[in-house]
Amino acid sequence: MSVSPSPPVPQVRPKHNRMFDVPEHRLMLVEGSPFHLLVAFAGISKMFRSIAQDIVYRRFHRALAHFLPEISIPIFLKFLDITKSGISSDVPLSILMPDVFRTTSPRHLVIQAPCDKGWEWLLVLFRMGYTDSQVVNDADFIRLQVGKVACTWRVTRPELDDQIFIIEGAQQNILVSLTASHFTSEMNVITSTAIYSLYPALTEARIGLPTFSRIKTTDTEAYSKLQLTLLDNLADFGRPCGASCMGIWRYTRDLAFVGRFHWQLGFDDDNMEDDDYQWRLHRECVNLKCRNAFKVVRGL
Ligand SMILES: [Zn+2]
Repeated sequence: MSVSPSPPVPQVRPKHNRMFDVPEHRLMLVEGSPFHLLVAFAGISKMFRSIAQDIVYRRFHRALAHFLPEISIPIFLKFLDITKSGISSDVPLSILMPDVFRTTSPRHLVIQAPCDKGWEWLLVLFRMGYTDSQVVNDADFIRLQVGKVACTWRVTRPELDDQIFIIEGAQQNILVSLTASHFTSEMNVITSTAIYSLYPALTEARIGLPTFSRIKTTDTEAYSKLQLTLLDNLADFGRPCGASCMGIWRYTRDLAFVGRFHWQLGFDDDNMEDDDYQWRLHRECVNLKCRNAFKVVRGL
């Protein structure tokens, strides 16, 4: 007597698991998420981390496509890696705040190049269709830039409004030239390996603080379009400043209080924390809720 085999039992999985089995659905769930949620999502598992990294890559690629021909983007990314450079200002903001850049485009592309790499970037951009360049003399920031920035170029191409700035640092570590930015909201940078934010809490709160300068009306207008509020100081912050304090000395050592997310695996690390460099935004803090208010602070 033969016994016929029993029919296979269908494998029923929970509904949410079935949804995560479909790559498109996984991406849709987090595609437009704010960056802090994306980072939290990446911490769940290896698979989620890889999804989050893919989303960062796609946001980065989309932002670069405003300035470069599609065919040039892989070469541009390779050169970013070879020269250990980074992209600051609007492009990383478009990755950190995707909701804002759904209706607006990055205004400019800012390349942060290590010492002696500026000319190499000029040559590469000329091969990609840009034709003109001029040195920018930002007199307001000469004092700030001493020892941090060697030279700044504006690179343009005819009949197009697109502008690329190359900021060649005075040192090899591009985080040093990044601290010479006009506002903390410009102190985010994406490299071929990771995205860094020198003031992650302020960026998340969409607040920009100036670096030893006065805020002009044109700055306020430009940043309000990006839903960012520029403040002279944190006097009305309503809570202690923490690592966002204007009066404290910050250090690149060990990337203390620097936000970092590795979006690309397989590349060498940037070694950003290797050089110890210190900076601060102002001589003092005026936030009465902060323990550093009106004190001379030597460090955290
Ligand atoms: Zn403070």
